[in-house]
Amino acid sequence: VKLESILAAKGPQVITTGAGTSISDAIALLAHHNIGAVIVVDPAGAPSGILSERDIIRHLAASDAPAGATVGDWMTSPVTVATPADDVDAVLQTMTARRFRHVPVVERGRLLGMVTIGDLVKAERDDFQGAIESLESQLLDA
Ligand code: AMP
Repeated sequence: VKLESILAAKGPQVITTGAGTSISDAIALLAHHNIGAVIVVDPAGAPSGILSERDIIRHLAASDAPAGATVGDWMTSPVTVATPADDVDAVLQTMTARRFRHVPVVERGRLLGMVTIGDLVKAERDDFQGAIESLESQLLDA
């Protein structure tokens, strides 16, 4: 299974912000959209970083003041991206090894969407389920 089939099912809507956005506005954005991370894009629209709830927790735990801080101050950069042609398997392996749950999908510098570890686990599960059902029906037909 490729990332493009997940994006096709999920739709292209992806929440982004700029590095100059205040941390309090970014927190409001995460809460409003009920999401765990926002992709930070440069003026050309290319991803330059990612701000996840983990980054916010880490900075708060270090007693960094949110007042006056911007997304650019607290984000993780560079951000690891994938392409629509990448296999779910390979991307899941990267996410597990590097311990992150979000990957922007980019083609020729253009942001196409975002996949989460939940999207990828569901796609794998559906794929395995389909394979099991087809094997079962082949056994019954034999
Ligand atoms: P997450 O598990 O995705 O909420 O993020 C855990 C940590 O990894 C946070 O510091 C994120 O900013 C960072 N992170 C999340 N996704 C990515 C990514 N695709 N590339 C690089 N860092 C990331």
